Formats: sequence, C-alpha cells, structure tokens
Amino acid sequence: MTAKKPAVKAAKPMLNLPRFRKVGPRYVVTNDHGAYAFLDEDQLQTLVTGRVKPGTAMFDELAAKGFLVSDTNLDDVAADYDRKVAFLHRGPVLHIMVVTLRCNEVCKYCHASRANMKETETDMSIPTAEKVVEMAMRSPSDTLTIEFQGGEPLANWDTVKHVVEYGSTLAKQRGKRVMFSLVSNLSLMDDEKLAYLIEHRVQISTSLDGPKDLHDKNRYLAKSSAYDKTVEWMARINQAYVDAGLDPRLYHVEALATITREHLGRAKDLVDEYVKQGCRAVFLRPLNPFGFAKNTEGMVGYMGDDFLKFYDEALNYILELNRQGVEILERLAAIFLTKILTPDDPNYLDIRSPCGAGIGQIAYNYDGSIFTCDEGRMVYQMGDEVFKIGTVNTMTLRDVVTHDTVKSIAMASTLDSIPGCATCAYKPYCGTCPVYNYTEQGNIFPQNATNQRCVIYMGVQDRLFARLMGEDEQVKDIFRRWVEVKDRPEYMHDGRRMQQGF
Ligand code: SF4
Ligand code: SF4
Repeated sequence: MTAKKPAVKAAKPMLNLPRFRKVGPRYVVTNDHGAYAFLDEDQLQTLVTGRVKPGTAMFDELAAKGFLVSDTNLDDVAADYDRKVAFLHRGPVLHIMVVTLRCNEVCKYCHASRANMKETETDMSIPTAEKVVEMAMRSPSDTLTIEFQGGEPLANWDTVKHVVEYGSTLAKQRGKRVMFSLVSNLSLMDDEKLAYLIEHRVQISTSLDGPKDLHDKNRYLAKSSAYDKTVEWMARINQAYVDAGLDPRLYHVEALATITREHLGRAKDLVDEYVKQGCRAVFLRPLNPFGFAKNTEGMVGYMGDDFLKFYDEALNYILELNRQGVEILERLAAIFLTKILTPDDPNYLDIRSPCGAGIGQIAYNYDGSIFTCDEGRMVYQMGDEVFKIGTVNTMTLRDVVTHDTVKSIAMASTLDSIPGCATCAYKPYCGTCPVYNYTEQGNIFPQNATNQRCVIYMGVQDRLFARLMGEDEQVKDIFRRWVEVKDRPEYMHDGRRMQQGF
C-alpha cells in the first residue's frame, strides 16, 4: 500500500500594491501596470486586509486584473508592466529643431522667447542642421519624429527643406522611419511652400486659440489679423490634402489651444471654433510658465481650479457634441484614457514616468546647443542654463542620454519615488514636469501640496473616472472611440520600405 501524498496547498495570492482614491460613491483602485477596479468601502477593506475569498466574483476580477498575484498569473502581470513602460527601451523618439528664433507674430504667452524678423543670426545653419539630423538618426528607436519649431520655422525655409531631404536620405540609409512635423502660425505660408510640404508629406500643426477676438487678443500680427491668416491657411491646407487623395479624417491640420485667463468662461466658443474649422481634436493645454508667459503670468495665468472649471464646461460640451454625431475629441482626456483603457502607454513625453527629457525627446536650439526638452530651452532663453546639456558640435547621443542633468530629471519625474505621487491612485497614468516644478516651485521635484499641475492632472483624471464609473454607456463608447489608434502612414518617410525599393 502506498502512502497517500499530502495535498499540495495552493500558495495564497499576494496583494499587488493597490493605490486608491475615492471618486463619488466608490473607490478607484489601481495597480502599477495601470489596471483599475471600482470597489465600495467594504470591498476595499476586504482587499487590503487580504480576505478576498477564492471562488468569488471579486476574487476572479481582482486576479484577472493583477491585484492578486500568484504563480498562475505572475508572468502575465510582469508582461503587462513591461508593455506599459515599453517607451523606456526606445530612446529619444522626438527631436525638436528650433530652426530660428525669428517670428512675425507676438503672442502674450510666447513660450519660445522670439526674436524679431531682422535677427537672422538666430537662424539654424545647414551644417548645424545636418549634425542634428545625424544625432537624431543614432537613436535606438526605429521610428523618429523631427519637429520644426521656432520662432516661426517658415522664416528659415531653406533649412526646413534641407532637413526634410537630408533626413529622408539618412532614414533610407539606416532603415528608419521618420516623420517630419512643422509647428507654424501659418502666416508665412505660400503656395510654393504648401506644395512642397504636401509633396514631402510633412505634417502641419498650428495654434488656434479660439474665435477671432480671443485668438487675436493672444496673438498679434502687424497689419493683419493673426486669426484670419491661420484659418485661411488651415482651410487651404486641408483642401490640399483632399486634392492629394488623402483621407481628410486622418490628414488635416492639427491645431492646439493654449488656455489663458481670457478663455475662462469661453469654453463653448473655443470648441465651436474648432468644429467650425473642421478640426477633429482640441487639445486643452494648460499654460506653461516659460518664456514670455513667465513675465505676463499675472495677465494670462490662473490657478488649477480655474482651469478645471473651464475644463468641465469644455468636456461636457464636447461630449454633448459627440452624442449629436459630431466627431471631436479632447486630447488631454484621450492621453489619460489611452493609459487607463488600453494596455499601452501613448508615450506622450510630458505625462509619463519618468518624463521624456533627454531620454524620450531632445531639443536643439538654432546654434546647435542641446536641451533636455523644448521647455528646458525656453528657460535658457530666460537666462538660466540649468537644462542645457551641451552642443551637437562636441557631443554624441550617448553623452546626451547619460548626462547628469538628464539623470537628475529622470529621477525627479519618476513618480514611484515622489512623496504624494508614490501613493496616488493616478500614479500609473500620470507625470510631473521638472521644468515646470523648477520654474514654479524652485525645485525640479514637485511639491505636490501646492503644485497646480498636480491639481489639474488629478482633477482631469477624477472627471474621467467618474464617467467610467457612471451609468452612461454612450459616454464610455465615446471614450473608447477616443483611444482608437489611427495610423497615418503617408506621413512616414519609411527607410525600411525605401530600402526594399517601394
Ligand atoms: S502629480 Fe498629482 S495626480 Fe499625478 S500622480 Fe502625482 S499626486 Fe497623483
Ligand atoms: S521636463 Fe517637463 S517639458 Fe521637459 S520633457 Fe519632462 S515633462 Fe516634458
């Protein structure tokens, strides 16, 4: 007779550190890889005291979402986390080239600290531009974006064109995919430039701050209306995409608004303007206190709660329009929702942990000097070199990525080690900006009790989770539409395809 083997007792599942926050009647409970559950107070107590009974619906849900970890799901939880932070393996994907500081518009909040149109010494030369492109191409990422910024990049058109052609050639040689993106006020656009940009598939973005009175109050153009120029060219560019046989739902001018005090109380006007101009997205971007905006903050700035009041009006109205069949999304919400509802992080460099400074994006000033990000360059234009890394003339990409300043910013934006963030339910979806923190609070680490960016991010996520928790299925469907990934392959200069002779 063989002795009966003792039954192997299944190991008790471990609790995978949950973070929680009360939103309305229930708690939003999240874990590191971004899964969430809605629990009432008793359920939360049951979870955190380790009393969830196997075989119950609650156990099954929390195990499936990785709140309870055992041998059976440990590998899945690790894979989910790895996928969520996949951006860490890609290196700098966004390369911002300030091809000139010159600009023909004067904006109240100008982040770029512009130079006037005569100051041609602030144009990036072609040899410097080539060095920037060569550094960008050394990134380990297969896919890169080169973004033309200024000043007004169309003021240094020869360099823009050269970068598109040189970058496309290098992408072909190195088997990379590169997208070129132009951020312009559009007032220096003409037919020849437009034809070139369409032919070379350069993505075009602009600023639209609302209807004419709001836009022109924020953005001054001598002898003309900045608004008239912008909307005229938006329409012509959108028509050019159609004429080139491109799907207007995917290929159109992207616009973004910088929300100043003038916008408060005018959310509906702003959204209506975006719909009127055929935009499919509006990005309600809080004001950054950099560049001229620091000096004019008293005129244009506001507190986080003021922004949230505005945001409520805008989001409610945008959702109402969507219910009526108008397709327009709010991009700040879409960034958070992608993190909340999908297994991937959208790699928006200002809202991730650690942030993208130096390891996800690099900014190059007109003279080849290198900064952690464009915001770090704006601080330099205000007279403070703290975010300057060096120059393309002497540095390699490795020197940049491993620079002490880059390491410090990565530490200061890794939420797991920041008081307040480390225990916040929104840690898996959030980010902090060391340049903002430095400018506003005198320290690259955030002081969250008074950090207005934290107020805004927490408030926006509260509003999104309240709706996800609610009964309105139509809103949830709208949110799911907002996180659908829409590829725009025509913008890609695809070195891999070009090498194969396509
Ligand atoms: S910044 Fe604020 S909302 Fe975001 S994780 Fe930190 S504490 Fe939470
Ligand atoms: S420091 Fe701020 S602006 Fe720069 S990449 Fe990080 S979050 Fe973005």
